[in-house]
Amino acid sequence: MFPELLGTYGDGGNALVLSERLVRRGRSASVTAIAPGDVFPEADLYLLGGGEDGPQRLAADLLAASSLRARVADGASVFAVCAGLQLLGTSFAVEGDAVYPGLDLVPATTVRGPARAVGDAATRVGGRIVVGFENHGGVTHLGAGLAPLGEVVVGHGNDAAHDGFRAGRVWATYLHGPVLAQNPWLADEVLSSVLGERLEPLASVADALYEARCARLRAMEA
Ligand code: GLN
Repeated sequence: MFPELLGTYGDGGNALVLSERLVRRGRSASVTAIAPGDVFPEADLYLLGGGEDGPQRLAADLLAASSLRARVADGASVFAVCAGLQLLGTSFAVEGDAVYPGLDLVPATTVRGPARAVGDAATRVGGRIVVGFENHGGVTHLGAGLAPLGEVVVGHGNDAAHDGFRAGRVWATYLHGPVLAQNPWLADEVLSSVLGERLEPLASVADALYEARCARLRAMEA
């Protein structure tokens, strides 16, 4: 959604990865980029990426006026990164500490942190690792009953302890990469959740590169 506003960190690559992993399995996929003013299309999965404070505020207004909330209530899924994560919550603060309302899909509040979190990052999700990078000034607090996506292994994530959140069909992380290109297993988790079935394994160069990144992380930790 709104790649001109929320495309600063290359998160549009998540859409390419999801559709390519379906096509390589002989399934069909169609990706639509939604621009401001477009009729909001019906989709199985809506993707939100990262962006700077100004465009993020504009995206918040556009999303509030859109049918995204109704679509999610009807069973659509959302995968959101960084600014996208912040937009799904109750409110978010931008540079200068002005507070803006979010979409209120989940009980998450983003305040301004003391320093910008910039650098490589890794999150443990269940027994597995998600690798990527982060670049944000926001610190996100999850309200009661909202589960984080995982625990921070490297970097800051929401609050230096947890990264992202998962509320049924709504997924969010602070990690860019694009995160689904760097972590193909997570792309398949999202696809399996959307389709309601386990997908057959798919060997790709991306999977081999992911293993190499995890090996480097283990070497760093040792
Ligand atoms: N503008 C937000 C922040 O700095 C989100 C940045 C991003 O999407 N990487 O917290």
